[in-house]
Amino acid sequence: MDTLQSAGHAAYVVGGCLRDTLLGREPADWDLATDAPPDRVVALFPHAVYENRFGTVVVRKVGVQYEITAFRRDATYSDFRHPDAVEFGESIEEDLARRDFTVNAMAWGSPAGAEPGFVDPHGGRDDLGRRLLRAVGDPDRRFGEDALRMVRAVRLAAKLEFSIEAETFAAIGRNADLARHLSGERVCSELLKLLSARKPSIGLKLMADSGLLAVIAPNLARQRGLSQNKIPGEDLWDHTLRTVDAAPNREVVRLAALLHDVGKPDTLDTGPFHGHESVGAEMARDYLAALHAPRALQERVAHLVRHHMFAYEPGWGDAAVRRFIRNVGPGCIEDLLALRAADNVGSGLPPDAGRLAELAARIEAELAANVVLGRSQLAIDGADLMRELGLPQGRLLGEILDGLTERVVAEPALNDRAILLDLARQAILEREIEQNPVS
Ligand code: ATP
Ligand code: MG
Repeated sequence: MDTLQSAGHAAYVVGGCLRDTLLGREPADWDLATDAPPDRVVALFPHAVYENRFGTVVVRKVGVQYEITAFRRDATYSDFRHPDAVEFGESIEEDLARRDFTVNAMAWGSPAGAEPGFVDPHGGRDDLGRRLLRAVGDPDRRFGEDALRMVRAVRLAAKLEFSIEAETFAAIGRNADLARHLSGERVCSELLKLLSARKPSIGLKLMADSGLLAVIAPNLARQRGLSQNKIPGEDLWDHTLRTVDAAPNREVVRLAALLHDVGKPDTLDTGPFHGHESVGAEMARDYLAALHAPRALQERVAHLVRHHMFAYEPGWGDAAVRRFIRNVGPGCIEDLLALRAADNVGSGLPPDAGRLAELAARIEAELAANVVLGRSQLAIDGADLMRELGLPQGRLLGEILDGLTERVVAEPALNDRAILLDLARQAILEREIEQNPVS
């Protein structure tokens, strides 16, 4: 701010970072507003990066990111998601008027040479005190301009643990349908922020009650009113909410918790809910793909949903534990157990119901013993088989290696070069007999 002001420009801290500071929260990043055009700002700050067509200049200093933007005024909106053009505004007041909620529409600063102070034309500080999210201006008009603001309302309510002011909330109900026009990316980024709240159910409930859920996640909205025999008086959606809240605050696990039973409404008649984890895994992947979530995230969430119904019993032998690790993948075990613990809590059970702690301890013991879980840990590899047994590269080679891996997972003592070569010879012989039966 000093740098801008010394050069004769206005400088204000503005938006979410001011809100968070007043709440005693650490801001994620700092936004500044100024009357200096971007090329002036770039000239004033060494290492500044002029990032996009919205006229934002990014300055990084000791690990903190500052985004400096010239006062803006949004021009007309025709597609419910982006202004057709961004124009520079004349004043901080104009800049604040285009912002979404009153608590996000305050500034602290001054024109060049003046003492800094608060600029709060929309009563943001009062709303902050009441912990209320209220649209700046007429909520119907503001949501009509940009439907993402409705999604931002519910995610900010979850993150800040604020309520949504009644008129603003009613306007979300009236305009929810406009969220159809939003790009997957924008919804995804707000949804992930919502899920990272201490208690995501605050935002998810508001989403469902306002009608927004039916538009941006119709398959989850179908969980409402669907009864199941878990907690008396609660439906499947209540179960999902409890599960999400109980899940540890990691992106994959929270998403998997949100989507773990998404397949249930479609498997009502199959025994009931039989196979919902496979149906749900596909639905979860499709949903995240439509949101343009990163591919790896789609796959991981689908994988967790697919495996969340495992049924551990103390009667499992060590080989069964190792096969379980191999199927789930060692890198996913922790997330899967966390998901199941959350699912337990969501069902009104203690987190380690189904002897989860016992299973976790047995898994840990297997992993600590460095047991073989995949081809790469076998005492021989494809090159050995090619050299020693004259096998050509190809499908047979792969099948033999997989067969050997299965054997060693069941019986670790077999992981010895000589033994494995013998087993491979036997396997080849058996195949030859199978293919040329003596009649
Ligand atoms: P977070 O703490 O998650 O960063 P935030 O409110 O700061 O929350 P940002 O996306 O960083 O969210 O946006 C910064 C500011 O820009 C907001 O506080 C708000 O003033 C304004 N803003 C962001 N998105 C919109 C929008 N869709 N419509 C109007 N104003 C917006
Ligand atoms: Mg921010």
